[in-house]
Amino acid sequence: MKNGKEYRIEEYTIDEEPFYLESGEEKKIFKAAHKHKIPFAAIGPTGCGKTRFIEHMSYLLNEDAKDKKPLFFVTCHEDLTSDDLLGRERISGDYLPGILQRWAKEGGILYLDEIVEARPDLVTLLHPVMEPKRRVFYNEKTGNVTELNPECMLSMSWNPGYQDITRRLKPSSRQRLITHRFNYPEPAQEAKIIMEESGVDAKNAKALADLGVRIRGMKEGDFRTLQEGASTRTLIDAGILIKEGISPRDACQDAVVNCLTEDTDDVYKELSQALDEVVENFFPRG
Ligand code: ADP
Repeated sequence: MKNGKEYRIEEYTIDEEPFYLESGEEKKIFKAAHKHKIPFAAIGPTGCGKTRFIEHMSYLLNEDAKDKKPLFFVTCHEDLTSDDLLGRERISGDYLPGILQRWAKEGGILYLDEIVEARPDLVTLLHPVMEPKRRVFYNEKTGNVTELNPECMLSMSWNPGYQDITRRLKPSSRQRLITHRFNYPEPAQEAKIIMEESGVDAKNAKALADLGVRIRGMKEGDFRTLQEGASTRTLIDAGILIKEGISPRDACQDAVVNCLTEDTDDVYKELSQALDEVVENFFPRG
């Protein structure tokens, strides 16, 4: 597990419209990038809706299309190998195509989540498929050159907040992308998302959204030890627990606070106390 997500490589077609509340013109921008075959990068803090947006766009593109294309989903990490992407030879001697090979043939969105976690040589592998004009995929393992299916769209995401300098895409990669910044939604919008996703009532959803804003403010203020603010994902999880009958305080503790702190050193003790006080503010003990 990393950033609350399992590593995964899979493909799936999205049949039902995933709920996504837009905060700007991101849908229009994505559609323009798709039309002109330019790769799209979603950057922003963890749990702010980047993946949900890509799933939503996969659904929308299929809505207008005759045959439904899959979303190829790859969570990048340092153990991801070119075998995983390009394919591997089986003992029997035949070739098992990797996810990149299948995407190139079938079309659809290839989404590389947390691409900065992948080894740089893997990112370089992608350069030929980032060229809107050439649109070919060279499989250096088999020596095959495949023309990309016209419905191929490359997209990726990363969190610019906590990557070190070695975990950055090279300018030669970055300048091949349309890069859209995502952030946590405005509080009224975030409350709507929390309600929709967790089923919690409007009052608790508003309090959770306000709690999120306050915790994010702590990160900018006295508590720079906070690596990341409370994400929309964690606020939704708190909503789910509340909806299940857990007291709001316990819900916030387990879904929001505990994943932001380590309980060992003093810095974190101070931070934990401060977080408790903030929670108390929004959800006073009964
Ligand atoms: P990221 O990919 O940025 O880490 P996700 O897309 O997985 O984050 O978002 C976490 C959860 O937050 C989603 O599963 C969804 O429930 C919710 N979410 C965040 N932003 C939105 C949004 N704008 N509209 C709908 N749901 C959202």
